[in-house]
Amino acid sequence: GTAAMEAGIINTLSRGDKVICGANGKFGERWVKVAKAYGLDVEIVKAEWGQPLDPESFRQVLEKDNNTIKAVIMTHSETSTGVINDLQTISEHVKNLSSALMIADCVTSLGACDVPMDDWGIDVIASGSQKGYMIPPGLSFVAMNDKAWIASKSSDLPKFYLDLNAYLTTVNKNSNPFT
Ligand SMILES: *Cc1c(COP(=O)(O)O)cnc(C)c1O
Repeated sequence: GTAAMEAGIINTLSRGDKVICGANGKFGERWVKVAKAYGLDVEIVKAEWGQPLDPESFRQVLEKDNNTIKAVIMTHSETSTGVINDLQTISEHVKNLSSALMIADCVTSLGACDVPMDDWGIDVIASGSQKGYMIPPGLSFVAMNDKAWIASKSSDLPKFYLDLNAYLTTVNKNSNPFT
């Protein structure tokens, strides 16, 4: 799951990019740590642990911003407290007020809740095998739409094993870059 989160960031963003991370639990805080590990300029939108993120707070930050925010990053189902965040409404604000990518951790929502990625306008979804899907651990899933793949072509964050374009190239040849 964490590999998928990291892959979602390093394949779509570039050095110094400004991002907003929602944090209302352990996994939202993990997004902040990953983004900071890659030197991104992180603004945190917080809510108390046990409370959902407030879509209104995201709307206010986006309205004040002059389209410099490159991504809004959040957890859908915050496993540490069991809170579901309103990904749909936050994603609507992102689409209406900016050109930022909407990146979501859906590790415990995919397979358990409705997550209509295209209808909600989510550009990147990170997930893993062992939670919502209830299959053995070890597989990471990253879903990206066309907007995210386009961003990946100019993304300059360091990557090697998790370079998704390497996977895209080989999957078209019915292969994979590594075992
Ligand atoms: C478990 C979990 C992760 C991390 O998954 P790992 O496979 O342990 O790296 C990330 N986000 C959420 C919401 C989770 O529940």
